[in-house]
Amino acid sequence: MISVELINTGSELLLGRTLNTHGQWLARRLSDSGYTITRQVSVPDTGESIESAVRESLARADLVVTTGGLGPTSDDLTRDKVAGMLGRKLVEDPGTLRRIEQFFEDRKRLMPASTRVQAWVPTGAEILLNDFGTAPGLAFELCPNPFCAGKSRSILAMLPGPPRELRPMFDKSLLPWLRARMPLDTEWACRNLRTVGIGESFVEELIAGPLQGLIERGLEIGYCAHVGQVDVRLSSQGRGSEHIVGEAVLIVRELLGARIFGEGDDSLESAVLQALREAGLKLAISESCTGGLVANRITNSGGASDVFIAGVVSYSNESKASLLRVPIELIEAHGAVSQEVAASMAEGVRSCLNADYGLGLTGIAGPGGGTSEKPVGTVFIAVSSGTGTRAIKRFNPYDRVTFKEVTSTQALDLLRREILGVGRDDKTP
Ligand code: ATP
Repeated sequence: MISVELINTGSELLLGRTLNTHGQWLARRLSDSGYTITRQVSVPDTGESIESAVRESLARADLVVTTGGLGPTSDDLTRDKVAGMLGRKLVEDPGTLRRIEQFFEDRKRLMPASTRVQAWVPTGAEILLNDFGTAPGLAFELCPNPFCAGKSRSILAMLPGPPRELRPMFDKSLLPWLRARMPLDTEWACRNLRTVGIGESFVEELIAGPLQGLIERGLEIGYCAHVGQVDVRLSSQGRGSEHIVGEAVLIVRELLGARIFGEGDDSLESAVLQALREAGLKLAISESCTGGLVANRITNSGGASDVFIAGVVSYSNESKASLLRVPIELIEAHGAVSQEVAASMAEGVRSCLNADYGLGLTGIAGPGGGTSEKPVGTVFIAVSSGTGTRAIKRFNPYDRVTFKEVTSTQALDLLRREILGVGRDDKTP
């Protein structure tokens, strides 16, 4: 087992002003790669806190990863503190300085003099290139580890604070470097299957029994519920792991079928885009209660312009009539939140924009506006295509943000199933 401790530096984390997403993101990346996270700690930006946390972690772990504190300001102390602890001199690295200058030149911005400090690198450190910022990451192989008499070797890696810099640096530079310098001491396999439209306990009910034989051979199953989605993590350690996990994936795919929309980091929206792209079809969206969230999610994936024509947020009845040609009489007869209006919105946006698929959503997000017949949380979602229009009713009685998130997931899943022609198993809870 290779033990890992994570140290997230930043007073803002302890003041509750920034959510520590590095703890979650790095723990997932490292543990999916077979490294074992044994401790995570957040410390404020003081030299003393950073130094004592790094010393303590190096006294226990094979790998210590710090985040934050590599910037140019007075509260960015990690680089200096670690260099001091390890007795390394800081030396200006010409290649890093050139990259920093280039960073500012490319953006036609003046380089502040303080930024130059980021080119100062402790002797013996591996430089991890930063493609999205100025501070490089740094990594040390400590042979022997001066803080742990029993360890002939440990690794200390330092990553910058901003997530958009840290994440690509970890994937592109640190993980490949780690795999070469500190390879796993045993075979390891891990796959993450992503499902939608089925609850966590029903997923378990369907797959746990059939996987029992593999569990006895070393398979581990993890369930992770997100809003409207559940991930199934299948992992195994030791001889034959690859084979065990491979067999488990086949069984789970067979049992969960179209409820699985992707693997690894795939998103539901990217699955929808891929299905549209493969079929050579175009999409238009009309949303009321989700305020554009479905269109937002669709455009989070690169290449959305290949298949996405437009999204219309039509809140008022008048805008539904004028922009989407929903007949006012239909709204008066059935109410703006109704199966008929959702279907008409989907058909309207599809024909107005000459799309292959039209999506329509209308619902009551609350807190006001509910009735006994249509309580807060009621939502209708429709998909229109050349083969007809299909509308579903759902009940999502949550706060507004969760309501929008769950509803957008249901709409994307309905659309995905219509494009793939897999329908919906309405017996699925
Ligand atoms: P910079 O050059 O931007 O100063 P840095 O390496 O010194 O980079 P910090 O100053 O510690 O990093 O953090 C920069 C920003 O990164 C923070 O203001 C915060 O928005 C974000 N950040 C830092 N740590 C975390 C974390 N654990 N989780 C999420 N975001 C974080």
